Amino acid sequence: MARTGLVLWFEEADWKDKKLLGGKGASLAQMTQIGLPVPPGFIITTEACRKFYSSRKAEMDELERQLKGNPPPAVRDEIIKRIWALIDQCDLPAGLMEDVREHMQELERRTGKRFGSAEGIPLLVSVRSGAALSMPGMMDTVLNLGLNDNSVQALAKATNNEWFAYDAYRRFIQMFARIVLALDEKPFNEAFDRKSEQFAREAETTYKDELEAIRKLYPEYTPRLDAQPPKDIAPRLWARSLELIKELVGEYKDLVRKMWGEFPQDPYVQLELAIRAVFRSWMNPRAIFYRIANNITPDMADCTAVNVVTMVFGNMGWDSGTGVYFTRDQSTGEDRPYGEFLPNAQGEDVVAGIRTPLGLDELKKRMPEVYNQLIEAGKKLEQVNKDVMDIEFTVERGKLYFLQNRPAKMTPLARVRSAVEMVKEGLLTKEEALLKVDPEQVRRLLYPTIDPKVKATPIAKGLPASPGAASGQVVFNPDDAVEWAKQGKKVILVRVETKPDDVHGFYAAQGVLTSRGGMTSHAAIVARAIGKPAVVGAEAIKIDYESKTFTVNGVTVKEGDWITIDGNSGSVYLGELPTVTPELGGWLDELLRWADEERRLGVRANADVPEDAMMAKKFGAEGIGLLRIERMFRKPERLEALRRVILSADDKEREAHMKELADMIKPDFKEMLDIMDGKPVVIRLIDPPLHEFLPSSEELLAQIYDLREQRERAQASGDAAKVKELDQKIAELQDLYNRVKVLQEANPMMGHRGVRVGVTYPVIYYYLTRAMAEAAAELIKEGKHPVLEIMVPQVSDVNEIRFVKNNAILPALSDVEKEYGVKLNVKIGTMIETVRAALTASEIAKEVDFFSFGTNDLTQATFSFSRDDVENKFMNQYLEKGILANDPFDTVDVKGVGRLVEIATKEGKEANPKLEVGVCGEHGGDPASINFFHGAGVDYVSASPFRVPVARLAAAQAAIKEKLGIKGAVGE
Ligand code: ADP
Ligand code: MG
Ligand code: MG
Repeated sequence: MARTGLVLWFEEADWKDKKLLGGKGASLAQMTQIGLPVPPGFIITTEACRKFYSSRKAEMDELERQLKGNPPPAVRDEIIKRIWALIDQCDLPAGLMEDVREHMQELERRTGKRFGSAEGIPLLVSVRSGAALSMPGMMDTVLNLGLNDNSVQALAKATNNEWFAYDAYRRFIQMFARIVLALDEKPFNEAFDRKSEQFAREAETTYKDELEAIRKLYPEYTPRLDAQPPKDIAPRLWARSLELIKELVGEYKDLVRKMWGEFPQDPYVQLELAIRAVFRSWMNPRAIFYRIANNITPDMADCTAVNVVTMVFGNMGWDSGTGVYFTRDQSTGEDRPYGEFLPNAQGEDVVAGIRTPLGLDELKKRMPEVYNQLIEAGKKLEQVNKDVMDIEFTVERGKLYFLQNRPAKMTPLARVRSAVEMVKEGLLTKEEALLKVDPEQVRRLLYPTIDPKVKATPIAKGLPASPGAASGQVVFNPDDAVEWAKQGKKVILVRVETKPDDVHGFYAAQGVLTSRGGMTSHAAIVARAIGKPAVVGAEAIKIDYESKTFTVNGVTVKEGDWITIDGNSGSVYLGELPTVTPELGGWLDELLRWADEERRLGVRANADVPEDAMMAKKFGAEGIGLLRIERMFRKPERLEALRRVILSADDKEREAHMKELADMIKPDFKEMLDIMDGKPVVIRLIDPPLHEFLPSSEELLAQIYDLREQRERAQASGDAAKVKELDQKIAELQDLYNRVKVLQEANPMMGHRGVRVGVTYPVIYYYLTRAMAEAAAELIKEGKHPVLEIMVPQVSDVNEIRFVKNNAILPALSDVEKEYGVKLNVKIGTMIETVRAALTASEIAKEVDFFSFGTNDLTQATFSFSRDDVENKFMNQYLEKGILANDPFDTVDVKGVGRLVEIATKEGKEANPKLEVGVCGEHGGDPASINFFHGAGVDYVSASPFRVPVARLAAAQAAIKEKLGIKGAVGE
C-alpha cells in the first residue's frame, strides 16, 4: 500500500494526540479502541491539511495578521478576497487521494459494502471536519456521501426500503450542494417546502383514513416529507410520499446543474471535493474571525482533520433514531443521564433543532437494551476522560453506534458540582477537580438572578439554556447587536434560531433569546460556552425579521424595546427588571474549601464600606487588604470638616478641625474592624490630591458672580441689611476661591497627595491614626480582637516613612495606648506604587511591617500611562495592532511591572525577613496575575469582594500547577 502516513484508521491512531487527529477524530479513535461500537472509518490528519496550505502559508499568515488588526470593512473584504484566491491555489498533498482510495477499498472489504455501485450493499460515508478545538464556522458534516443514481437503487434493495434510499439521496444532494459546492440553499428549501406542503395537504385529505391509523399508534407523527410513514399501516400514503421524494431528487439535480454543473456521480469525485471543502473551510473568514475572537493560536489548534465514517442510519424506521447524551445534567451537574433522542431521524435533525426531540427516559421505555448500553458506555467514557461527556449516538434498527464524544460544555454550576462529586466518586483527585474549574466560571456562579421580590409576569417561557438574568434592548440581527453595543447600548439578541454566522452577535449581546430549538441547539451551546444568559425555544414568540418585531400573546415588541430574560428559569419579561446576586452554594463552598487547603497565597478583600466587608467575609476573605478612607468623607458634614482642615490658615486651626473630623469617622473604623473581628484590616491613610475634596474654582467663580448680581439688586432696592449680608458672603467665597486657586496643581495625580500630605501636615496623619487607634482600643475594651494595619500611600523614599512614623503615626498610637491603657499591636506598612519605592525596597522594608503593591498606580508609573486617558484613547489600538498582548491594567505586565514586584518582594524580604507582602491593585482578582504573584513570592492578594472566590480558586490552581510542574497561565 502507498501509505502517506496522513491517513489513519480509528484502530491505529493515537487518540491522545488531539492536535494531529482533531477532537472528533481523537474521540472516534478512542471509542473504537476501548471497544465501543463505532462505525468503521479513518482520519485524514491535520498534517494533511497543513500540507494543503503549505505552499501559500506565508502569504496567508500575513493576511490573517492583517485581519487581526481589525481593518475597516472595505479593506477587510479585500483581504478576504485575497485569502480565497490563495486557497484556490492550494492543492492536496501528493499521494493523498491514492491513499484515501486504498483506505476506501479496505473499508469496502471490512464492511462488505461497495462504494458507489449499483450492486451489493452500498457503502456510504460521512465526511466530517474536526480541529483540535471545536470551532463554529468550519465546514459542516456531509452525510450519505457515495450516493448516486446507481447506489441509491442498491440502497433501496439492500434495505428493502426504497423510500429510505431516496430520502437519503435527496438529503445528500442538498447537503452536498450547500456544504461542498457552497450553493445557495434557499431554492432547495423552497422546493422541499412546496413538496412537503403538498404532501401534508394530500395526507389530510386523500389519505385521511391512513393518517388517522398512524396517529393512533404514533401520536407524534405529523405528515412531512422528511418523516417516513409506516408502510404497513399506510401503504398508499407511503407510496405517494416516495413519488414526491423522487420528483424532488430530480428538481434538486436540476438546481445543481443550473447553479454549478452536473451533479458528480463518481463517488471518488464527491469524496475529493468534500475533502477539499473541509480543508478550505479552515480558512473560511468565519473560522478565522472565530479564532481571532477567541485567541486560538496554532499551538492550540492548527488546521483541521477530515473524518471519513461509514454511515449508520437513524432514519431506518421507528426502531432507529439519533440523539445526544450528556453523562450528567449539563445545567445542574446532577449525576443523572441527560439527553435527547429523535426517533426515525438522521443526526443533523437533532443538531439543527428542526424537530422537538424526546427525553432519554422515553428511549429507556422504547429500547431498554440500547439505553443500558448507552449509560454504561457513558460511565466508561467518564472514567477514561475524567470528565462529564457529551456523546453523539445513533440507533440503526435497534443497534447502537457511537459517533462522537467530547467533554460536555456545562454551566458554571454544573462544572463545579460535577467536579466535586467526581472527587467523591473517586474519579478525580481534589487537585484535578480544582484545575477543572475556570476561576472566571466561579464568578459567573455569583451571577445575578431576577430579584425574587419583584412580581413580574413573564410574557413568554422557553428553555433555561444558559444561566443568569439579563436586560437589554431587543435587536434581531447579530450585526445590529455589534453596532448597538459599540454605541454603549445593552442588547438582547432575538432570533428564531442561531447559526455559527451569528456568534459575533452573542459576544456583543447581554443575552440571547430564540423561539426555536432545544437545550442542545446551537444558541444554547454557544451561550453556555461563552457564559451569556440565554432562553431558547420560546415557541410562543413569533418573530418577524422584516418589520423587526416579535409578537407573543397579543403583545408586540419592537426593536429597541427593553426586555429581561432569565436564563435560570427560561422566562422572558417586558422591561428592565432588577436583579440580585446569590449566595455561595454547597458545592462551591466545598470546592473552595479544598482550594483553601491547597493555596499558599492569602486572599483578602478591598472593601471600603460595611456591606462590602460583610460580602467579603461571606465569600471567604481572610481580611481587608485595602480600606480606602476617602469614601468616609462623602457625607456633607464630613466633607465640610475636611475642607476646613485643608483650608486652615495655620496648624492650630488645622488641628482643631482635624480633631473634629477624626471623631466623626472613628465610628466607621470601629464598624469595619468589628465586622472583620480577628482578621486584619489594612486602612490606608489619605491618598488622593487634596484639591479633590474642594469645590472647583469655576464653580466658585460662578457662585460669586451670582451673589454679585443679587447684591446689585439689593442695592437698587435700598435693602442695606441684605447688601451687607451679601458682601460678607462674597468676601468669604472670594477668600475660598483664592485658596483653592493656590492649591490648584498642574498635575494633581503626581502632586500634593499621599504621604506628601502627611509630611506637610503631620497633624492630619496624626488624627487619622488616632481615629483608627481609638476605634481599635474601644473594641479591645469591649472584649473584641481588632487587627489594625495602617498603610502609607505613595511613598517613594524611606525618609518619608520615617518622618510620618515619627511625627504622626507612632505618637498617635502611643498616646491612645496611654489614654486607653491597652496594647494595640498595630502593623505599619507602605504601598509600593512608585517605581522608586520598588527599587529601594530594601531600605523601606527595614522601616515597615508590610508592603502592599498598588499595582494600578505602579502600572501607570511604570508605563507612564495615565489609565483613563490610555483606556479611552489608544489601548484598543495597542491591543489590535499587537503592540501589547494584554491590557496591563487587566493582567499584570510581567516583564515590567512584574519585574518590579519580584525585585521589591525579594529585596524587601531579605532586608526584613518578617516583612509581609500583599497586592491590593485590581490585579489581585485576576487569575493570570494571581498565578504570577504566587510565583513572585507574594504572601496575599486582595481583590474586590466578588472576586474573592475567584482569587481563592486561582491561588489554589497556581499552587497545584507549581506542584505538578504545569506551566502557563491559570485557566487555560
Ligand atoms: P458536528 O461537528 O456539528 O458535531 P458531526 O460531524 O458530529 O458534526 O455530524 C453532524 C451530525 O451527523 C451528528 O449528529 C452526527 O452524529 C451525525 N453523523 C456524522 N457521521 C455520521 C455517520 N457516519 N452516520 C450517522 N450519522 C452521522
Ligand atoms: Mg458532532
Ligand atoms: Mg494608589
